[in-house]
Amino acid sequence: FTADRYPNLERDSRYKQLDAEDVAYFKSVISSPAGVITADNPEELDSFNEDWMRKYKGRSTLVLRPKTSAEVSAILRYCNEKSLAVVPQGGNTGLVGGSIPVHDEIVLSTQLLNQIRHFDEVSGILTAEAGCVLEVLDNWLAEKGYMMPLDLGAKGSCQIGGNVAANAGGLRLLRYGSLHGTVLSLEVVLADGTIMELGKPLRKDNTGYDLKQLFIGSEGTLGLITSVSILTPRRSKAVNVAVLGVESFEAVQETFKRAKGDLSEILSAFEFFDRQSFNLVLRHVQGAREPFDTQTPFYVLIETSGSNKDHDDEKLATFLESVLGDEVVADGVLAQDSTQAAAFWRMREGIPEACQTEGGNYKYDLSVPVPQLYSIVEKMREKLGSGGQYKEDGSGPVKNIIGFGHMGDGNLHLNITTSGYSEQLDKAIEPYVYEIVEENAGSISAEHGLGLMKAPYLSYSKSNEMIESMKRIKNVFDPKGILNPYKYFPTSK
Ligand code: FAD
Repeated sequence: FTADRYPNLERDSRYKQLDAEDVAYFKSVISSPAGVITADNPEELDSFNEDWMRKYKGRSTLVLRPKTSAEVSAILRYCNEKSLAVVPQGGNTGLVGGSIPVHDEIVLSTQLLNQIRHFDEVSGILTAEAGCVLEVLDNWLAEKGYMMPLDLGAKGSCQIGGNVAANAGGLRLLRYGSLHGTVLSLEVVLADGTIMELGKPLRKDNTGYDLKQLFIGSEGTLGLITSVSILTPRRSKAVNVAVLGVESFEAVQETFKRAKGDLSEILSAFEFFDRQSFNLVLRHVQGAREPFDTQTPFYVLIETSGSNKDHDDEKLATFLESVLGDEVVADGVLAQDSTQAAAFWRMREGIPEACQTEGGNYKYDLSVPVPQLYSIVEKMREKLGSGGQYKEDGSGPVKNIIGFGHMGDGNLHLNITTSGYSEQLDKAIEPYVYEIVEENAGSISAEHGLGLMKAPYLSYSKSNEMIESMKRIKNVFDPKGILNPYKYFPTSK
């Protein structure tokens, strides 16, 4: 998809076109020789213009990589004065086209803003710059007996600033809650270059509006997050992973209820995926194997984390015995060591990657009350089947319609893999998918955010009054609208 495919997204003439004088200014304020990437280096530039899904492509001719908040401040102050549009970019793993330019916006990358500023080993409070890669932080904390409170399939590339800007959820949310709870304070640079501390790295601070909450999930529209203070939990000494085969979505729900009851405080993840998702993993993920002799329509991955291995092993064994004995689940296997546990996680985490290998991939990340979660996948199969796009043997333009996700959070990932992207398919899928979510009192974005992809459909989840309030808030922090234009706010329903 390029901007040409979005007829409403003509270049806004309020924004100045970049010239040589601007580039010379940026070179003068950025300390790292690798901090300015121009069209002289087209290959490097290209990777900042394209998103992870290879679905969206921008036309920026300039990437800036500051090393300090002061450099970010000098860049934004200048852009604001000159009305140069900017797109903040972290690891560029976002799945809604939010991190790439639409036209010629300057890419402001946090790649070199990657120092750990402070860690308190008593409270577990970590202060790290926005460009620190999530997995790097998690490994660094592991040596101190701590861990990051969030984990995602993109951990090797996504950055903590991007995680906070996108309000990422992921695999540990069930246990440690959302970033709205774990992020304690932020340092941000506003559009006019002002550097602001939003709160302090304290667990309790009840003094006035909690402005950092506005920046969590703001997707680069309010300011650039330069540093994050976050509460990190102790790393669990005992971790167990089990995979279960389940005959129906009703039984998946029953398994979840039983897991919450029987495993309670040690339950740290409850993920589900359907057989069609797993078929893609078997096809595309190296080393993936059937866990059982017999196939089932659904699979569940359960993780427990605690401090006493004997206690956790016993609890999990009792739970497995009970759900197998009562025929709630058809099959179950417990990882015998950390290598097998990692292989089980790969069955679930390999799904997005496997979908990418198929060709086109329409990705929808939806929140729906748990009992209705899987009906969204079934309705989509019916709709595209009756329209002739989807044939179960995979011979139509739509090859697979699959459902997986964070069951514990009521979060479905509906993925529709296709032979390519087309306007006909766009129209067959959208807005239908958002209509069924609205009918089920759900949210059109559970954790991936709005970006370019979902901005036009915001009114399926938010009232006009709320959207107007959001616009007023945007205007307070970025009155000239230079930050991440064309995204986040709808132009029409
Ligand atoms: P980017 O993609 O670079 O940016 C995301 C948004 O934030 C953009 O709008 C960008 O403009 C803005 N932004 C980035 N950095 C800053 C900053 N410092 N200040 C202000 N704005 C900024 N997401 C989930 O929630 N849960 C998952 O389980 C999950 N799994 C994933 C698995 C895979 C394989 C992939 C590819 C993605 C997955 N994602 C998931 C989506 C994505 O990884 C997350 O949204 C991630 O948090 C984005 O971080 P990033 O550093 O790549 O940000």
